[in-house]
Amino acid sequence: MSAKEKRQCRGKRFDGWHWFNCAINANHEHEGRWYCKTHHPPSVDAKTVARKARWALEAAERRHGRDVVQARDRVVEAAKAWVGGMTHGSTYALVDATEDLLALEAGKTVIEEER
Ligand SMILES: [Zn+2]
Repeated sequence: MSAKEKRQCRGKRFDGWHWFNCAINANHEHEGRWYCKTHHPPSVDAKTVARKARWALEAAERRHGRDVVQARDRVVEAAKAWVGGMTHGSTYALVDATEDLLALEAGKTVIEEER
């Protein structure tokens, strides 16, 4: 193959209706085949891993946000029961619910620091 000869990417493109050969100039070799930057398999794999990691982080953040909201609701309900009843049991329930909320909020800080 001469230096001037162009290699075509082995990847496939989809136009929303049909699959066709990418045909962009291929400058990235992988296992004896040539690809454009977009279809180079190690690049595709790296993007897939990064996308899945981002989705997992977003799902964890949504889950955590929902847990905090539920913990706050439990604190409010426990506080209402405590004001209404003023029993030992309602005091412990309020303390437990508040400790759970504080732990969840502390966890939120840790997740934000990891970014
Ligand atoms: Zn390509």
